[in-house]
Amino acid sequence: MENQDTMVKLAINGGIAFGSKLNAKQLCVIAEHMSDNDELELTTFQQLYIEIPESQMELVKEKFKQVGLSVYLVGNYVKSLRTCNFCKGEEEEGMPVAKELNKRIAGKSVPFTLRPAYTGCPVGCGEPLVNDIGVMKVGEKYDLYLGGKAKGKDAQVGTLLMEQLAPEQLYEVVDHIIEIYTEQGKKREPFFKFVNRIGLEELKHLIN
Ligand code: SF4
Repeated sequence: MENQDTMVKLAINGGIAFGSKLNAKQLCVIAEHMSDNDELELTTFQQLYIEIPESQMELVKEKFKQVGLSVYLVGNYVKSLRTCNFCKGEEEEGMPVAKELNKRIAGKSVPFTLRPAYTGCPVGCGEPLVNDIGVMKVGEKYDLYLGGKAKGKDAQVGTLLMEQLAPEQLYEVVDHIIEIYTEQGKKREPFFKFVNRIGLEELKHLIN
């Protein structure tokens, strides 16, 4: 009988940089792991979905990483940070902070897929107010929004939880919020519902 390997879905992108881009080498390595009829799914969250045989997953992940691709699991995890294009420059728009935040939170296991977004100035190209956790750089510091939802009739804009946080404060608060959601969120409870249920004041109280 034919041995059917289970397929697993991986999310990949070129990491946090100026724009959401892939280079030729990365495209070639991705194509090497696809057969003629396979399709690559382009998501709205700056990720591509590719299906890989489970038995080859670690090997493929390593090959992707060697050409600078970032690889994430798909499912009930924190997604990689959606970002703006940092049009005014890496330092001015806080790209190192976005990278560090992504490193700390992307891939964490949570009750339901969580979408964090970052934007380098109040123009808001990274759409932080319509994602679960939104970070906006304002001046030299960072404002934090929670509970935005872009889709559906119940779409809602996120609410400002804290403003003018230094980078270390931002990392700590976001880590803590994800911890609280992981511990107190119901199974498959979307983050915006969790925020609505607990309430921002109570969340602030739990963080402090
Ligand atoms: S949010 Fe600001 S820094 Fe980022 S791409 Fe838009 S205008 Fe440029």
